[in-house]
Amino acid sequence: EAKKQKNTFCIYSEDLKNSQTEYLEIEHELHNALAKNEIYMVYQPQINADGTLHGVEALVRWNNKKLGMVHPDKFIPIAEENGMIVELSRFIISKSAEDIYEVQRLLDIDFQLSINLSVRHLFSENFLENTLKDIKVFDGEYGLITFEITERLFIKDINHVLPLLNILKEKGFQISLDDFGTGYSSLGILRTLPINEIKIDKSFVDEMIHEHDARVLSKSIIKIGQDLSMKILAEGVETAEQLELLKFQNCEIFQGYYFSKPLDHMSLIAFLQKGISS
Ligand code: C2E
Ligand code: CA
Ligand code: CA
Ligand code: CA
Repeated sequence: EAKKQKNTFCIYSEDLKNSQTEYLEIEHELHNALAKNEIYMVYQPQINADGTLHGVEALVRWNNKKLGMVHPDKFIPIAEENGMIVELSRFIISKSAEDIYEVQRLLDIDFQLSINLSVRHLFSENFLENTLKDIKVFDGEYGLITFEITERLFIKDINHVLPLLNILKEKGFQISLDDFGTGYSSLGILRTLPINEIKIDKSFVDEMIHEHDARVLSKSIIKIGQDLSMKILAEGVETAEQLELLKFQNCEIFQGYYFSKPLDHMSLIAFLQKGISS
């Protein structure tokens, strides 16, 4: 019994060492990633119930020589911890604004550009000034930009978050509550926050086919959101069955592999040209 415990401890400390090494390696490589042009953006289409394009979500990618493709779920938290997120987020915002502006002019269409907002970036010095600078290609058409926030934001004092979000809203930006239904906060925050859109988390979309409870919850979220005049978007839609059920529940916007994986700039243009001409 004692031996077993010792073994367990050894495995645990080995894992810990590996994850610490990995953390340090990622952190080290991340320092030069922007300068080395290893970071790029991809865009995932968001589709309306009638098949037209609602917008795209900008998602960051990192391809490192030594580490290969590193998942944003891995390096974003590290960048948040050591502060690199500010520089990274500014690149994300300016690059996606430039890319999407170009696509919109080229194809002569307007659609939403959704950008994930990180907590630490939101609270950084000169956030608003810098952001307005970074999206200057949009020439004041802030209504075409949606900032996705998550409930992680409320780690910070709500009294600190609210003024910032209200300023964004006053400027005309759209605000979307990402991963809705997974956090600890209540439906009450929907009234408190200046949000235009709710993103139903993929976990509901996955479970709703087989689980009655998930179906009841997604139906209620959609109903409440619509009663509060918000747009409702379901993420992680992978099958026709999920799409039909969500449509039946009155969900209006869909994002997921069923329609498209995230696409690089050129592939997005090809995807949209195909859609527009058909
Ligand atoms: P998220 O904001 O919830 O993004 C959705 C994730 O689900 C993306 O993963 C997307 O590629 C993936 N996804 C979309 N449709 C499907 C589907 O049908 N099936 C499956 N299995 N997955 C789907 P990704 O790009 O790896 O991003 C993971 C997370 O990393 C994001 O979650 C977000 O929290 C963070 N992230 C990604 N890009 C950025 C960024 O530019 N800035 C910030 N601050 N965070 C980002
Ligand atoms: Ca998101
Ligand atoms: Ca999400
Ligand atoms: Ca997520």
